[in-house]
Amino acid sequence: MIRIGLGYDLHRLVQDRRLILGGVLFDFEKGEDGHSDGDVLLHAITDALLGAAGLGDIGSYFPPEDAKWKNADSAELLRTVWKDVKAEGWSLVNLDCVIKLEQPKFLPKRRDVIQSIAAILGVDENQIFVKAKTGEKLPPVGTSEAVEAYAVCLLESLR
Ligand code: MG
Repeated sequence: MIRIGLGYDLHRLVQDRRLILGGVLFDFEKGEDGHSDGDVLLHAITDALLGAAGLGDIGSYFPPEDAKWKNADSAELLRTVWKDVKAEGWSLVNLDCVIKLEQPKFLPKRRDVIQSIAAILGVDENQIFVKAKTGEKLPPVGTSEAVEAYAVCLLESLR
């Protein structure tokens, strides 16, 4: 059986927070607001995997009102979810993502981001792709008030 999953997330960009995308730290004057570390790309990926496996969503897995997840490492959250998805018999065919960000430039770090996601999931880099788009100066992404991410994954099960 194969199943597709879609994930989406948006985080505000604010002062005094770090900008982390796919587990990689970017140098920028603002960072993602959020209960966890705010890694918008890993959150979208986590939701895509959960959706494909029919296991719920990131909010039901890690309730934001639970203080346990305050400033949580999103890579750890994704590892936890991926372990459960694999335990249901699923393996990853591929994961394709879009990050929507005005600044800073994403391309110079794309290889790092793909390597980071592949390492978190324990898959080959050629199963992961991430492309970037700007917000064409239109709010909220284009005015650097927010960053968005979309992720689609395909899972297969031999069970
Ligand atoms: Mg989020």
